[in-house]
Amino acid sequence: MLKSKRVMVTGGAGFLGSHLCERLLAEGHDVLCIDNYFTGRKANIAHLFSNPLFEAMRHDVTFPLYVEVDEIYNLACPASPVHYQYDPVQTTKTSVHGAINVLGLGKRLRAKVFQASTSEVYGDPEVHPQHEEYRGSINPIGPRACYDEGKRCAETLFFDYYRQHNLQIRVARIFNTYGPRMHPNDGRVVSNFIIQALEGKDITLYGDGSQTRAFCYVSDLIEGFLRLMASEHVGPINLGNPQEMTIRELAEAIIRLTDSKSKLVFKPLPQDDPTRRCPDITKARKLLGWEPKVDLEDGLKETIAYFRKLI
Ligand code: NAD
Ligand code: UDP
Repeated sequence: MLKSKRVMVTGGAGFLGSHLCERLLAEGHDVLCIDNYFTGRKANIAHLFSNPLFEAMRHDVTFPLYVEVDEIYNLACPASPVHYQYDPVQTTKTSVHGAINVLGLGKRLRAKVFQASTSEVYGDPEVHPQHEEYRGSINPIGPRACYDEGKRCAETLFFDYYRQHNLQIRVARIFNTYGPRMHPNDGRVVSNFIIQALEGKDITLYGDGSQTRAFCYVSDLIEGFLRLMASEHVGPINLGNPQEMTIRELAEAIIRLTDSKSKLVFKPLPQDDPTRRCPDITKARKLLGWEPKVDLEDGLKETIAYFRKLI
């Protein structure tokens, strides 16, 4: 029988965090959602408030927190370039001070701590697809550095707590994920294109649209989180969908699925925008028996239905 645990989720009111809280509750766990609502919204978790196993607390992870839990998932951090570049100093603080605070809490409680790291630790990669041993190529003083270097420093802290204090850690490197409850104004490509297509506005391709990404549906990713947390492996482990495509192909798929009349328009490519990104998930397949199941077209249909209702 499943043993119920007290699980803390930082960033629990965000896109991924709200799906994680929902899934943990469905598994019978007691869930404490921590969020400062910078990019997260109460609407994402409103349907959970009636569940007696769910509790939400407004708190900024850059400050210490004293609670009693068995496991911690650390997701707090703005994830879209528009949001993490809005206040870059706070972004680095959230990753670094946030990691120190959750790791300190984990050390006191002897609780397992999961870190939501990112494919951005690989920067604009020279190795393709990206495997976990690749050390990345990052501009440390560019506009993405607050996020990339913050997340890299957080990984360093996780592995030092693991070696120095014997803390149980789990580090997932998450690749582009999409689905319902993405923030409508966060500027990420899937939400931007769907909203533009539904409103009949121009679809904004940055650069010539030949840069690639690989998109994972949110339910697949959350399954990966739970498998990694339950496994014996500390990571880092890539979690993402290896189905790579150009951004132009994504735009065309969204226009087709929304039956939209929108036209493609080309805008300047943001500085340091990675030209290629695709996960090598050999390790996740082998160690966790995990791979994505949801096909891009099905995932996009769910996401389109969500945004259709929202706007
Ligand atoms: P999101 O912006 O929807 O969620 C982040 C949450 O953290 C929000 O609810 C926000 O209010 C909260 N938050 C931010 N700063 C905080 C602070 N100082 N204290 C407390 N709460 C704070 O983004 P998301 O897509 O759900 O991403 C969740 C995590 O996964 C992030 O750590 C992100 O870096 C990581 N990640 C996401 C993706 C993706 O494609 N979605 C890819 C790689 C990594
Ligand atoms: N992008 C785009 N048009 C948009 C938003 C994003 O062409 O309206 C591009 C962006 O330049 C990047 C890719 O889509 O190459 C993915 O961007 P996103 O911000 O979603 O995530 P990233 O992988 O860059 O963190």
